[in-house]
Amino acid sequence: MIIKCKDVFELLSELYDDELEENYEDLIQQHINECENCLALLHTFERTLDLFHSLQPIKLEQKRKQEFHRWLKVEIKRIVIKRY
Ligand SMILES: [Zn+2]
Repeated sequence: MIIKCKDVFELLSELYDDELEENYEDLIQQHINECENCLALLHTFERTLDLFHSLQPIKLEQKRKQEFHRWLKVEIKRIVIKRY
């Protein structure tokens, strides 16, 4: 199975939350290790989320969290695509 940048992007929030199957996570991690773009993408995503959580320590409900991650991915996509 070949992982593409698009796959990594789609799975950012699952990756961040450790919700991926182990085999799949390995494949994604392997791609990220070899792909500068995805590494930058993941760092931006993690940094933004960490910042958000430190500003707002209250745990979001699952549903709100998913909405927030979805929104964040769209925003990050916009930033990263400009850079490509
Ligand atoms: Zn990539």
